[in-house]
Amino acid sequence: MADLYVDGEWREPVAGGRREIRCPADGRLAATVSEGTRPDAEAAIGAARRAFDTGPWPRTPERERGALLLRTADIIERDVKEFARAESLDTGKRLVESEYDIADVVSCFRHYGGIGGVDAGRVIDTGRDDAVSRVVYEPIGVCGLITPWNYPLLQASWKVAPALLAGNTFVLKPSELTPSTSILLVRALAEAGLPAGVANLVLGAGPEVGAPLSEHPAVDMVSFTGGLETGKRIMATAAAGVKKVALELGGKNPNVVFADADFETAVDFALTAVFLHSGQVCSAGARLIVEESIHDRFVDEVVRRAAQIRLGGPFDPDAETGALISAQHLAKVEAYVAAGLAEGAVLRCGGARPDDPALADGHYYPPTVLDECTQDMRVVHEESFGPVLTVERFSGDEDDAVRIANDTEYGLAGAVWTQDAGKAQRVARRLRHGTVWINDYHPYVPQAEWGGFGHSGVGRELGPSGLDEYREPKHIWQNIQPRPQHWFRG
Ligand code: NAD
Repeated sequence: MADLYVDGEWREPVAGGRREIRCPADGRLAATVSEGTRPDAEAAIGAARRAFDTGPWPRTPERERGALLLRTADIIERDVKEFARAESLDTGKRLVESEYDIADVVSCFRHYGGIGGVDAGRVIDTGRDDAVSRVVYEPIGVCGLITPWNYPLLQASWKVAPALLAGNTFVLKPSELTPSTSILLVRALAEAGLPAGVANLVLGAGPEVGAPLSEHPAVDMVSFTGGLETGKRIMATAAAGVKKVALELGGKNPNVVFADADFETAVDFALTAVFLHSGQVCSAGARLIVEESIHDRFVDEVVRRAAQIRLGGPFDPDAETGALISAQHLAKVEAYVAAGLAEGAVLRCGGARPDDPALADGHYYPPTVLDECTQDMRVVHEESFGPVLTVERFSGDEDDAVRIANDTEYGLAGAVWTQDAGKAQRVARRLRHGTVWINDYHPYVPQAEWGGFGHSGVGRELGPSGLDEYREPKHIWQNIQPRPQHWFRG
C-alpha cells in the first residue's frame, strides 16, 4: 500500500524504496512502508502551499476547525487498539505504555478542539472615536513538522493539533524508525473531513525528506522535536529563509532529593523518572542529586529495586520496561556507560547486556546505576537517552543543590523532593528548567507549556504559548471617519 499522503491522496514515492520496520523487542517485521526522497517532499510542500493559499482551511472558522479536531479525537479513541499496537511494534515499548500515550494523544486533540473559537483576539481602546483597533490571529502558513521515535504519535499530535486549529497546512515527517502511527493519524484526519492538501505525510530519511522542510522557500515554519545536533542544523538552515522555528530538543534532567523527602516515595519515583521507557524520554530524570546524609541508604534502595526491573517485549504481561530503539542506540548507551566508568564512576547495577536467551533478538540494556558521579563526566552532562542513572551528592545546602542541578547546557525538566513546602518552592523557582515537579515526576497537562531553557529548545509546545507558535498576531486599525487630513497645504 502507498504510504505517502500528498494533496489528499495516498501515493507511491517518485523514487526511493521500501523500508522494513522491525520491532526493537524481537526483530519481528512490524511493517513495510514506502519511503520517499526530495521530490516527494517538494510535492508535499507544493500541495500544502496551494491548500494554504487557495484552499478553504485557513478561512474556516476556528470553531469548525476545533470541531474537526474533536472528531479526530473520537476516531483515534475508537481505533485505540490499532494505534497502540502499531506504536508498540514500531518502538518496542510495552503495550500498556502505548495505550497511555494514545490516551494522551486523544486528550491533546480534545484540548485544542475544545478551545477553538474561544480566543478571537482583542479589541484595543484607541482613546478616539474615529478609529477602531483590534488584534486578530492569523495562521503562519505552511508548517514543516518533524518528529522523533520515542513518542512518535504524541510528539506529532503536539504539533498537528495546534497547527490545524490555527488554520495552517502542514507536511509531517515522522522518524524513519517509527512511521506507522503517523500513517494512522493522517487516515484519521482524512476520515474526520480535513480538506485535501492540508495534511501531507512524507516518509524517509532526515537528510532526504526532512531537510527540505527547513530549506524550501514555500515553507513558513519548521517545528522539530529531536536531538540537539539535528536541531542546530535545522535552525541554521531555516535562518537562511528567515523561517519561524520551534525546537524541542534533549534534556539532562536533575532529580534533586533532600534528606527530609518521603524516603519510600522518592525512591519509587527516582526509578520511574529514569527507567520509564528504558530512559528514552526527553524529560527522564537521569541525574539523581541526593543529599549527602541519606546518600548511602537511598542509593542502596534504588539499586536493589533497579536490579529487579524485568525487561521484556511489548506484549509480555510481566515486562516492566522494554528494549532500546535500535542496535545503534544500544551501542551508544553502552559507550556512555564505558566512558563514565573510565572517568571514575562506580557501577552499582546493570552495565552489561542481559544474557537471557529470551531477550537475544532485541536491543535490550538493563537499568544501570552509576554512583560517585561528577558533572564533568560525559555520562552526566550529555544525553545518553538510555536506562542509565548517574548519582551525584550535595551537602544539604539549597544553593549547592541548585548549583549542581543547573550545571547543564540543557534545561528541559527536573524535580525536587522535600517535605518542607517553602524549600520546595524556593528550589523549584531557582531551577533553570522548563518544567519542575515537586514531589512527583513526569506528569504534564496539555493546558501548560512544555519546553526548555538553554539548549533544550526554542519556543513551547502545549499550553497557550504552544498554540501561539502556529499563529501570528495581526493588528488591524480601521479609520471609521476617513476624511482628508490636510497635513500638506498644497
Ligand atoms: P533525531 O534528531 O535523530 O531525529 C529526529 C527527526 O529528525 C527524525 O524524524 C529524523 O529523521 C529527522 N532528521 C534527521 N536529520 C535531519 C535533517 N538534516 N533535517 C531534517 N530532519 C532531520 O532525534 P531522535 O533520535 O529521533 O530522537 C531523540 C531525541 O529527541 C532526543 O534527543 C530527545 O531528547 C529528543 N526529544 C525531545 C523532546 C522534547 O519535548 N524536548 C521530546 C521527545 C524527544
